[in-house]
Amino acid sequence: MDKRDIFVQIDQMEEQMGTLYAELGEIKRQIIELLEENKRLGIENQQLRKLLKKDAEPMLPLLQAAGASIPVSMKEPTGEGYDNLARIYHEGFHICNVYYGHLRTEGDCLFCMSFLNK
Ligand SMILES: [Zn+2]
Repeated sequence: MDKRDIFVQIDQMEEQMGTLYAELGEIKRQIIELLEENKRLGIENQQLRKLLKKDAEPMLPLLQAAGASIPVSMKEPTGEGYDNLARIYHEGFHICNVYYGHLRTEGDCLFCMSFLNK
């Protein structure tokens, strides 16, 4: 094999690795975005369920008497305030007002910690 061929090949490989590296970074960014969106939707869903529960609560005995199946979320009391935030934090998301809802990619956050210790 010609020496020049080897260098051409190495150059090509280098270029491919650069492209792969860029793609990997892009995929990583998309995963973080999806995780954050998922968490936001989860929180929103929980809040909507809470509202729904408040609205539907007076009707619960009627619904039960009629044999309707009641969603579990309406029967179980939801953990309030602090507990919810502590849970979200331990699931790996920020609860501080600086980065709220974003994925914690670098371990503990001092803003969140000070918030939790209040
Ligand atoms: Zn934080």
